[in-house]
Amino acid sequence: MTTKVYCYHCMTYHRPESMQKIMTRCGERWRCVRSIEAARSSTDERDAFGLRQSERNKARARVMQENAMQGRRLAQQAL
Ligand SMILES: [Zn+2]
Repeated sequence: MTTKVYCYHCMTYHRPESMQKIMTRCGERWRCVRSIEAARSSTDERDAFGLRQSERNKARARVMQENAMQGRRLAQQAL
């Protein structure tokens, strides 16, 4: 029987070779590499998504501003 290490993240036991010791507020804990990697990649994706979203918002704001300026110009011409 192989000894398994308790993973506080998955709340289950994994093989020690797939585990990594990390420091938490509660002290040293063992967490599996897979869950660490998963958390890291999801954070990257979220950041990339946030960046794209803010770029889109900026572009939309610019278009709205241009439309507003054009509208004002048209209103002036009408007078
Ligand atoms: Zn785990």
